[in-house]
Amino acid sequence: ASGYTLLRDPHHNKGLAFTETERDSHYLRGLLPPAVVTQQLQEKKLMSSIRKYQVPLQKYMAMMELQQRNERLFYKLLIDNVEELLPVVYTPTVGEACQKYGSIFRRPQGLYISLKEKGKIHDVLKNWPERSIQVIVVTDGERILGLGDLGCQGMGIPVGKLSLYTALGGIRPSVCLPVTIDVGTNNEELLKDEFYIGLRQKRATGQEYADLLHEFMTAVKRNYGEKVLIQFEDFANHNAFTLLAKYGTTHLVFNDDIQGTASVVLAGVVAALKLIGGTLTDHRFLFLGAGEAGTGIAELIALEMSKQTKTPLEETRKKIWLVDSKGLIISSRKESLQHFKKPWAHEHEPVKDLLGAVKAIKPTVLIGSSGVGRTFTKEIIETLASFNEKPLVMALSNPTTQSECTAEEAYTWSQGRAIFASGSPFDPFEYNGKVFVPGQANNAYIFPGFGLGLVISGAIRVHDDMLLAASEALAKQVSEENYDKGLIYPPFSNIRKISANIAANVAAKAYELGVATRLPRPANLVKYAESCMYSPVYRSYR
Ligand code: NAP
Ligand code: MN
Repeated sequence: ASGYTLLRDPHHNKGLAFTETERDSHYLRGLLPPAVVTQQLQEKKLMSSIRKYQVPLQKYMAMMELQQRNERLFYKLLIDNVEELLPVVYTPTVGEACQKYGSIFRRPQGLYISLKEKGKIHDVLKNWPERSIQVIVVTDGERILGLGDLGCQGMGIPVGKLSLYTALGGIRPSVCLPVTIDVGTNNEELLKDEFYIGLRQKRATGQEYADLLHEFMTAVKRNYGEKVLIQFEDFANHNAFTLLAKYGTTHLVFNDDIQGTASVVLAGVVAALKLIGGTLTDHRFLFLGAGEAGTGIAELIALEMSKQTKTPLEETRKKIWLVDSKGLIISSRKESLQHFKKPWAHEHEPVKDLLGAVKAIKPTVLIGSSGVGRTFTKEIIETLASFNEKPLVMALSNPTTQSECTAEEAYTWSQGRAIFASGSPFDPFEYNGKVFVPGQANNAYIFPGFGLGLVISGAIRVHDDMLLAASEALAKQVSEENYDKGLIYPPFSNIRKISANIAANVAAKAYELGVATRLPRPANLVKYAESCMYSPVYRSYR
């Protein structure tokens, strides 16, 4: 290939870091200015230019541009500056990027499979330049973060998630495939927007929807084999649970909104026990929001309680209560409830709202998973703090605008007693002379390591016990020093090590359950996981 092509190939381009010898041997003479620089210097220059942008979306676009120009440098930046850049390439900025995707769209970064491709999906997959794929993140754009239906513009999410698979979990970029399935959108604004990039029609549902998804799932397995991980992302709950159940027995599938969230929140709750006291079963949980996140978390907490105390799930579920848009979920509502809510319909008289539920249930842990911001009001937090020495408050809804309350509110309204974590990041907050560092219950702690564990063990099915294994590994990474600041998650700066530990624990479980195909089992799984992880350092070309 010519030097000119090499400079335009993001997988191999090194820009000014090409050495003198490489410039000679790869026909690059004259195509680059004379200076030869190190990757460190390139990183320094780019970070300083990214820091100059005031608008988060500009930072996002600079990062996307870099990814498409020099992939290794993009990952070097992301890995070395993870705490600073995670909010740029992922929530909250990625949400804004999706909302404006039509106008910032430059080059396709993943596969678009729309109703137009019906009957041809097997061939469409072949148009993707890479043949060997290990991880797919797929969305249909119907429930992007807490922002709702963004249709085809949801593509920002699979792209962002997969870049985290690589940066945080060490999955090689070439084996990652972002996919957006476009069956239309019910978002009127997008349908009217002249710059909208998706199908201009209402969402297909029912059989038409199921058929397209089935064709996709079949084509994926046929093209990439049984060990390809398919992560469902940001599907609306009326499809998410169904797809997960339907393909859980035939494919390696994982729903991050249901399972990844559950695993990361369980880890936070388990870690928080050191601060709030008691064992898991000593606590009472109340959720605002009984969708994918809420019921997924509730189920995993109940499962862990059940394993710890050898009590049936039906019993441990009774420690957990959920409120949806119609009030407390109780047995008298059972008939009209969606199937995923039914296990949570306990005996109780009707309670119409969250405040009423807090008073009636007296939870020790309050979890927000409603997608609606500012719903943990002053009165609610004060009530919670009135009967808990140290209430655990988790405001999970993303992005920041949808957070059930801010860190500042949780700390001030509880007079500095709450242990707080949120989905989107909040800055440390000083209250009465003490600095509180809010933890981020971010799925990015779990899914990259979880996926790595599946990939390195060659797992062919996901099992709930693997989610518990991931939680356990994450909770163990919280240090005394972290606890002292009120943190229930370890700092993101250690994420590669955290991911390797999660991967090892997940892989160990896969071997134990007999669903691992990479044989023999490596003796030291942490070391093995680390040795498999992608490094963004430039290779030398000879
Ligand atoms: P979902 O499946 O649509 O569920 C939303 C739930 O909230 C539904 O049960 C809904 O009630 C309920 N709800 C909506 N408005 C409400 C209101 N005003 N009062 C009471 N309940 C209300 O959504 P999801 O996937 O669970 O996600 C929810 C939120 O969690 C999103 O903002 C998402 O970004 C966030 N999330 C965060 C993390 C994380 O931080 N790690 C992970 C995943 C998701 P009905 O059932 O009655 O409609
Ligand atoms: Mn999601």
